[in-house]
Amino acid sequence: MQQSLIERDLAVNWHPYTQMKGAEDLIPIVKGEGAYIFDANGKRYIDAVSSWWVTLHGHAHPYIAQKVSEQLNTLEQVIFAGFTHPNAIELSERLLNLLPQNQQKVFYTDNGSTAIEVALKMCIQYHFNQGVQKPKILAFNNGYHGDTFGAMSVSGRGLWTDPFGEQLFDVLFIDVPTQANLEETKAFISKYSDEIACFVYEPLVQGAGGMLMHNADDLSELLTFCHSKEILLIQDEIFVGFGRTGKLFATNYLTQSADIMCFSKGLTGGTMPLGLTTCTQNIYDAFYSNDKTKALFHGHSFTASPLACAAALASLDLLEKEETQQAILRICNQHADFIEILKKHPKVKDARQQGTIFAMEWKTPEETSYFSDMHEQLYPYFLERGILMRPLGNIIYLVPPYCVSHEDLEYIYQTILDALDLIG
Ligand SMILES: *Cc1c(COP(=O)(O)O)cnc(C)c1O
Repeated sequence: MQQSLIERDLAVNWHPYTQMKGAEDLIPIVKGEGAYIFDANGKRYIDAVSSWWVTLHGHAHPYIAQKVSEQLNTLEQVIFAGFTHPNAIELSERLLNLLPQNQQKVFYTDNGSTAIEVALKMCIQYHFNQGVQKPKILAFNNGYHGDTFGAMSVSGRGLWTDPFGEQLFDVLFIDVPTQANLEETKAFISKYSDEIACFVYEPLVQGAGGMLMHNADDLSELLTFCHSKEILLIQDEIFVGFGRTGKLFATNYLTQSADIMCFSKGLTGGTMPLGLTTCTQNIYDAFYSNDKTKALFHGHSFTASPLACAAALASLDLLEKEETQQAILRICNQHADFIEILKKHPKVKDARQQGTIFAMEWKTPEETSYFSDMHEQLYPYFLERGILMRPLGNIIYLVPPYCVSHEDLEYIYQTILDALDLIG
């Protein structure tokens, strides 16, 4: 049965971030429950990456399913231009309540990349509407903000973006802040600050770049500096938001709030596609005018989908529960204990953590790289043992759903330790 599903799939489907030649080891998944997914042969896998970092409370969560199902029977979709609906109102109210005070308005989209596109367009047109020319954008090396053209432009450049190099717009790239480079970085920014429309960054953890982590105080200092130079700040919380860092949002670690914030992934608990971009009153006001051409001309067919908003509201209910907060804390503590063990291991180059996000780098002869052969060995090794992990080259990481059990996490750690003995 598995074989026939694979054959039928390969006959018609083209998968993301996949060289389809050699991708015949596809696994058909037919069921999800809690931290587990089940393949067509009934084999169970612990979803240690929350299905690409989206699943917060586990698969097929009955509470979210019930809320979405009720919504499905009430109002499945309505145009969001000229119309609104209670879910979008309630979700914006609740979310803004949880964000820094300066966040005042919510613009809905349907994924992370488009939430970034909206943020970039807000910043560029914010200046345009006031007759100001600021052609440059600032971003971090090794950042990742999505796969649409604007989001790709502000992401770290590499083999992925090479074919599109000519089509991507000019971006000033800086390294993530450290005490050692802050002054130099500030001097670089000062040189261009009159021309820089905005700075877009992943706070604390650069996910797709390899779960790279930087210090909150250093980031705060850099953001405060950019703010003083009137560079608009776009904080990409698409991955780190909703508890991943141990606090509700990465912003809760920082002393400088952003002008614009982007969310997706865990926003609906990973149930439905939804993205959103929040902004300050100041930015909103630069578009609010008697002049119709000053409006933000952007929208998607499924803007503020009532179903997706219902899922997001249900996910927030679950996230705010005491038992979820306790689970997040427990995962943080378990990771910390494991890192202490790993740090002594001769084959471990680095082990690091930000809240529920864990990463370790395997010592390899060659440089750390996404295309490292380690992936080819590690990915099937963990799958065979019933664990879904997607090593980024020689970097192994865990982003578990919060419902993962103490025992399952310990099993994953032990399997990693065994892998260190067996592989490489
Ligand atoms: C995944 C991700 C995005 C893009 O979101 P999609 O929904 O996949 O388009 C943007 N920024 C960060 C930090 C991400 O991790």
